[in-house]
Amino acid sequence: MSQFHEALDATISHLEELKRAGVTHVPVRRETLEALGRPVAAAEPPVTQYATRNTPPPPPIPAPRAESPDMFAERIQVAGATKTEKLASLRQQALACAKCKHLAASRTQVVFGVGNPEAELMFVGEAPGADEDAKGEPFVGRAGQLLTKIIETMGYKRSDIYIGNVLKCRPNMPVGESGNRQPTGDEMKTCLPWLQAQIDIIQPKVIVALGAVAMRGLMPEISTGITKLRGHWLLYRQTPLMPTYHPAYVLRAYTLQNRRAVWEDMLQALERLGCPITPKMRNYFKSE
Ligand code: URA
Repeated sequence: MSQFHEALDATISHLEELKRAGVTHVPVRRETLEALGRPVAAAEPPVTQYATRNTPPPPPIPAPRAESPDMFAERIQVAGATKTEKLASLRQQALACAKCKHLAASRTQVVFGVGNPEAELMFVGEAPGADEDAKGEPFVGRAGQLLTKIIETMGYKRSDIYIGNVLKCRPNMPVGESGNRQPTGDEMKTCLPWLQAQIDIIQPKVIVALGAVAMRGLMPEISTGITKLRGHWLLYRQTPLMPTYHPAYVLRAYTLQNRRAVWEDMLQALERLGCPITPKMRNYFKSE
């Protein structure tokens, strides 16, 4: 069989797999469609990101570049038979991480992640802030309080789900300066294998990415802004991923529109998880 036909067979199987998983839209770049019309040797592989709502999909997402996370992911060896044991083994290793010398020197502690190793739903934020650095737990400050409220309104307890960050150390600030800074691309790239290993162990049914920075860390190949991305299903490796606004952004821009947008994204996540949604939940922001 020619390479082209092997690639075609693999593409068809992959599309059938996505269809069985409920995927109804597969955005394809214009160049890819054009390439498919050219002589077979020029054909490109398909992109794996997808949207599943009947709303228009976000702008076409470029296919992964050479430095896509899968390419640089390293295999971290974990001990243990159960998810709890494997996460504990991973945590031990992460706590000793000093790959980013400047962060290892400035952090109070590594903020590994918290929650249920068997969680079906996982939230991914960007990086610990001062409160998280002090406490060793993600999302315990003001943004965390809002996230906890969202989780509880969805019908979960915080301990039912899993919460992690792209970066496990607080981004350091210049001496004498308070506040937070965004993680750099290099810091996120260096730290991502820990998060990937967490996801591999937990195998959540749905990931919610909180904000533009978390999205950039998880899927650097996507340059579309969070306003366009949110509300549309993507695929992070094999896991459905819903991008939404970061709770800190919602606190800064506390409009009905932003709160409703996040809640609609959470309703989509609940639907995807097959969770019951009461009319009250459905109309949560409609009555305001
Ligand atoms: N913001 C994040 O992205 N993560 C945290 O853990 C806290 C605030």
